[in-house]
Amino acid sequence: MLKVFLNGDYDFLCKMYGLSGPQGTSPYPCLWCLMPRAMHQPSDQCQLRSLESLLADNKSFMQLGEGEKKDVAKFYNSLHAPMAGIALDRVSPPYLHILLGIVLKHHKLLEDAAHD
Ligand SMILES: [Zn+2]
Repeated sequence: MLKVFLNGDYDFLCKMYGLSGPQGTSPYPCLWCLMPRAMHQPSDQCQLRSLESLLADNKSFMQLGEGEKKDVAKFYNSLHAPMAGIALDRVSPPYLHILLGIVLKHHKLLEDAAHD
């Protein structure tokens, strides 16, 4: 049995799965869950995405939203159908962006400590 995994930067992954992207206006920027951008704290209430939910959200966008890009946020930013049938648990998290986030957080904590 052959198992296929996907790896790439976040912009590439968003395009592969049809999300409108992680831009500043996207209210649901995460490929793996439906945590709204405005919510900064992790929550147990957060609904996970799946390949099936991405397909269903895009289908709803095309049917109910009539493919109007301005309304894509109502359909969790599923602008296009996923290009490959690779389940989300086989997508490697974008290491560079995670590392940059950790370094930035560490830098801010260090800066705050220096001010104290
Ligand atoms: Zn997420």
